[in-house]
Amino acid sequence: MIEIWAVGGYSEIGSKNMTAVKVDDEVIIMDMGYNVEKIVNYEGREGEEITKLSYKQMLKMDAVPNDTQLKEEWGEKVKAIVIGHGHLDHCGAVRLLAKRYKQAPIIATPFTLEIINKGLEGKKLYNKTIALNPSSKYKISNKITIELINMTHSTLQTVAIAIHTPYGAVLYTNDFKLDNTPVLGKKPDYEALKKVGENCIAQISDCTTVDKGGHTPSETLAKEMLKDILLRYQNRDNGIIVTTFSSHIPRLSSLLKLAEQIGREPVFIGRSLFNYLEAAKNTNLFSTNAKIAGFVRQRIKLLSQINKNREKYMIICTGNQGEPNAILSRIVNDETPYRMQDDDVVIFSCKVIPTPTSVANREILERKLKGKNIRIFKDVHVSGHASKADHRELLQILKPKHFIPTHGGMDKLVVAAEIARTMGYQLNENVHLLQDGKKLVIQ
Ligand SMILES: [Zn+2]
Repeated sequence: MIEIWAVGGYSEIGSKNMTAVKVDDEVIIMDMGYNVEKIVNYEGREGEEITKLSYKQMLKMDAVPNDTQLKEEWGEKVKAIVIGHGHLDHCGAVRLLAKRYKQAPIIATPFTLEIINKGLEGKKLYNKTIALNPSSKYKISNKITIELINMTHSTLQTVAIAIHTPYGAVLYTNDFKLDNTPVLGKKPDYEALKKVGENCIAQISDCTTVDKGGHTPSETLAKEMLKDILLRYQNRDNGIIVTTFSSHIPRLSSLLKLAEQIGREPVFIGRSLFNYLEAAKNTNLFSTNAKIAGFVRQRIKLLSQINKNREKYMIICTGNQGEPNAILSRIVNDETPYRMQDDDVVIFSCKVIPTPTSVANREILERKLKGKNIRIFKDVHVSGHASKADHRELLQILKPKHFIPTHGGMDKLVVAAEIARTMGYQLNENVHLLQDGKKLVIQ
């Protein structure tokens, strides 16, 4: 018998992803994520990093999945904790929750493990860790083998997690897009997905942008969009700042090449950029000779140097959501040695995450930029999440007996259920709309 416990990520978007799957008497946990909005809020308000807080404090803030009941009922049976990728809403809470299942190893790709380790701020994980490359398998017991299947998303080494069991495979695709021409890394491993499709008992799938029509365009389009803007500023002396998600190594790699193309020196500024770029370097996935200023003293020194020869550089910095403590907000507030001038360019290579905090922070930031006569380019971005046609395509490949949408509020889950309905599935029979804390038995 297979049981699925929707611990977190089923009631709101971008938050606390965590699912447990019980195969007879053995349990596999997938993802342990933060509620990112609660964290941005806390850090903005207190000016203090979240790493100072304990599990209990975070639980009280509703910033980590509530696994109290899970620990009580299934805790002893947990055989492995598998993390699908290095975004904080999927891996951020590992440092606090994993030790509650001490006996279970943490399995993830080398890049994801690097990100988890960076979040520990020098401390060590209690659990054993197992680094598994995408497209490889690990035997947990006589009944369970874990397979990590290469997928595309907006950070490196994102995988779909297959739990192979005597009842068929449970496939966890949270998050993914189907990008056949990625700018860094390989396209999705369709062969492995087809193989899972031969006997897939359940698919638990990301719904972040399930309401968007068509296919999500490839990351190569984002590169072209950036190129179109940046080429216009070749041989001009405007200061240029680009901001994007720090974890988006493929985007950073495109920016690096484009800076060189327009004859400017790319420089990366910000702590989280430093962490993600270092993780990519340590795992031999991407490296650069460009200057990276992660810490305060380096940042001040570099920005003061850039300020003297603004036309020679392209600044790539943190703060795409208008976070008050990130570099872009500090620059616009004149808290750094870099001074913005009329007609300087700021490119937001991202979307605004639709949470009240991000929307408000970005509004404040853009107002300040406009006040300084900055040329703003927004939404120069392509999503890392699947759209309607991608969901349909994956469902066709996998043909799961049961379909369980996740990573969204009910409004998103319902859209995913509707897609499945058009393909012959039926609500409550083989499509299940779970909410945080709910369990499902699959026969
Ligand atoms: Zn993600």
